[in-house]
Amino acid sequence: MTNKELADLLLPGVDSDISKYEKIYPERNLGEKAIVTRFAPSPTGFVHMGSLFQSFISRKVASDTNGVFFLRIEDTDQKRLVENSVRGIVDDLHNFEIELDEGMIDEDKEKGSYGPYLQSKRKDIYQSFVKYLLEQGKAYPCFCSAEEIEETRLLQEKKKQRIGYYGRFAKCRRLTPEQIQEKVANGEPYIIRLKSHGDFEHKIKVHDLIKGTLEIPENDLDIVILKSDGLPTYHFAHLVDDHLMRTTHVIRGDEWLSSLALHIQLFETFGFQPPKYAHISPIMKEDNGVKRKLSKRKDPEAAVSYYHEKGIPVEAVKLYLMTLANTNFEQWYDCNKDKTLADFPFDFKKMSSSGGLFDVEKLMNISKNYMSRLKASEIYDGLLAWTKVHDSEFFEILMKQKDYAISVFNIEREQKKPRKDFACYSDIKNQTWYMFEELYDSHEKEYDFQTIQDKQEISKILTSYIENHYREEDSKEEWFEHMKDLAEEFGYAREVKEYKENPEKYKGHIGDISLVLRIVLTTKSMTPDLYDIMSILGKETIFSRYRTWIEQNQE
Ligand code: GLU
Repeated sequence: MTNKELADLLLPGVDSDISKYEKIYPERNLGEKAIVTRFAPSPTGFVHMGSLFQSFISRKVASDTNGVFFLRIEDTDQKRLVENSVRGIVDDLHNFEIELDEGMIDEDKEKGSYGPYLQSKRKDIYQSFVKYLLEQGKAYPCFCSAEEIEETRLLQEKKKQRIGYYGRFAKCRRLTPEQIQEKVANGEPYIIRLKSHGDFEHKIKVHDLIKGTLEIPENDLDIVILKSDGLPTYHFAHLVDDHLMRTTHVIRGDEWLSSLALHIQLFETFGFQPPKYAHISPIMKEDNGVKRKLSKRKDPEAAVSYYHEKGIPVEAVKLYLMTLANTNFEQWYDCNKDKTLADFPFDFKKMSSSGGLFDVEKLMNISKNYMSRLKASEIYDGLLAWTKVHDSEFFEILMKQKDYAISVFNIEREQKKPRKDFACYSDIKNQTWYMFEELYDSHEKEYDFQTIQDKQEISKILTSYIENHYREEDSKEEWFEHMKDLAEEFGYAREVKEYKENPEKYKGHIGDISLVLRIVLTTKSMTPDLYDIMSILGKETIFSRYRTWIEQNQE
């Protein structure tokens, strides 16, 4: 029986002409340096930080080189599918502005001419490649049951031998064509295995773009390439898809490093050029002084929904991811404040081979800096979009009072050293509610007076401010002079310095007076510039808040 006859027996009706696929999926017409890469998740749930990080880097290198970034969904493990997760993955990428050039764009929609991008739709292609291997005598059927495989494993464990289907443990490798024919005729179920020509004692050198040059043993495992459901394993699908989709760079988690020798062997078996590999170490986290992997289960920040819920701007998250990705990014960004992420020359060599440490505090700091550089109108737009989903009360107010809100967000902004108040959109309401009448009215107000505590004294100060010192048209300098007049009137020093020189002469100083005016107006002892706040709130509101306080605090 020839190999061809055997192949026909095992995969009847499958066309073994793989050369036709070379024509359907020709070499891409791109520049010499163009990187074609992909994100290839299983549809088992949503994108988490680790895979977002991977896609972010893949998108970046593809964009930097005028290459292609595509999304392939790896659903060959049909038992693990989660409904609607393709949509979820597409949305997650989109929400982080990681755009796709090709690939799946919805549950059953795709774009691009190198598809299908859903593996379960590529069954015919995989089977052609498997049949081709069978014809070449480089693959064979395996009839071993799960129990037999388990028995072998136990034996190997007991004898302290390497686990797997190889060498003398590869029973079905030795079946004669007649035995195979007989088993098939008896209806025994089978899978197809690679007939590995590798020698485990022999080491090969492979270059990884992140880990450097590695010396690893050749693969000698006769791994499964086609499962009993007619779908390939990850390894075989990787070979077929990344070859036909003309992937130049495989950027993936380093849990795949142990399969690298096998993958290189698969490419060589077909005489294909293997892609370049970049194995990314998992993102780490320090937990009570111990480093461990960022965990989907334990760390809320591992879920991408965390960033949306908090309202951390996408760009800030990306800036942080780049600091994790390339150690020199922070310094570059510091020296190139007018540039954006797109201008940064990403370099695989500058990636940590042991895994970056995720630090939410640092991310928040980066976000604070980033938000401080936004224009007031950009803060408004970002906040509007965030409140639309997360805070309908604030959303309505922002819609009604656009110009007013922008003036609020403009306090100490759009200047050389802007104020760094907000690390995320969910911070803003908590810090600005007293600027919006509706929020102010419904807010529980607590006043923590720090220096002047006597309510009568405070009432008198407020009354005199209203009656004698407040002028709507005052410039900042005039306004401050008038506040000093108020201080003097009540026996407080006009300047802190004066007070410090002769503390016994005064009840306190100008700072105590302005603090009272600030706290009654806003309830807070720390706010942005009081003059700006007063100018925006306006006379009526200021007077009304002061008068209300006086009324409510009469002895
Ligand atoms: N489906 C594989 C995974 O989710 C893809 C690995 C790869 O990028 O090749 O880990």
